[in-house]
Amino acid sequence: MSLTGPPFAVAGGGTMTYSADDRPAPGPPGAGSARAQRSPSAGPPSAGRPATGPPSTAPPPTGPPATGPPVDRLEVVREWPDLPPRAADALRVMLAGNARFRSGHARHPHGSPTRRRKVAAGQQPVAAFFGCIDSRVPDEVVLDQGLGDLLTVRTAAHVLDTAALGSLEFCVHQVGVPLIMVVGHERCGAVTAAIGVLEGGVQVPNAIRRLVEVLRPAVEATRAIDDVDLRVDAAVRWHTRLTVEQLLDRSPVLTHAMEEGEVGIVAARYDLGTGEITPA
Ligand SMILES: [Zn+2]
Repeated sequence: MSLTGPPFAVAGGGTMTYSADDRPAPGPPGAGSARAQRSPSAGPPSAGRPATGPPSTAPPPTGPPATGPPVDRLEVVREWPDLPPRAADALRVMLAGNARFRSGHARHPHGSPTRRRKVAAGQQPVAAFFGCIDSRVPDEVVLDQGLGDLLTVRTAAHVLDTAALGSLEFCVHQVGVPLIMVVGHERCGAVTAAIGVLEGGVQVPNAIRRLVEVLRPAVEATRAIDDVDLRVDAAVRWHTRLTVEQLLDRSPVLTHAMEEGEVGIVAARYDLGTGEITPA
């Protein structure tokens, strides 16, 4: 295990470092969460919120995004957060599909004409996937799902905007999915580009610049990490967790659904090399 990055705080008081070859292993859904103690105004993003957590009434931010604390306070999450029963069941289905995919035993389910005709009459998807546009992270493939199984929202580095937020609210409020997976991924090009723009003076068109600004907190929080790969990975984790927080901060609909146990939201990370999805 090479110790090239700064220590990451671990819930329970310990600290550890991790490298690209020594990443947290996933725990079973619903097995509890190593969640940072966090105040609304300061502290690192956590990997999720308890279903019974306090309601959020914070309005959408109108200025530049707040800068988070240094990444050395970002805990390593080894387990998925506590989830309502339906969300935990959905996560099990997703992780089972991911296990099939990465082991080379994907079933490519629900692609038959019979399935097509069935879902033509109505859908009851298992989960919503909010991930990056990256061609290497297609949700139905990496989760081994098929027609009618997933609702999908993808933007560069899963940057949250009004359309994405409304789409995810639609998933929960209108369609009734019990689980939202926010999935960042290894070596995210958009996150890498954001570092180049914000620190290297790289010029990009205005619309891309707006994406970059959303990624600024993750870029700033990971500034102390010299190793490029480790830094991008830490920034992806940071941004993925922050996205979960943003979903709840900006959406009374999602917050209410979470408080009622109707939906669970998890922050996840996809490993390009192994194909594995683990807690972010
Ligand atoms: Zn990406």
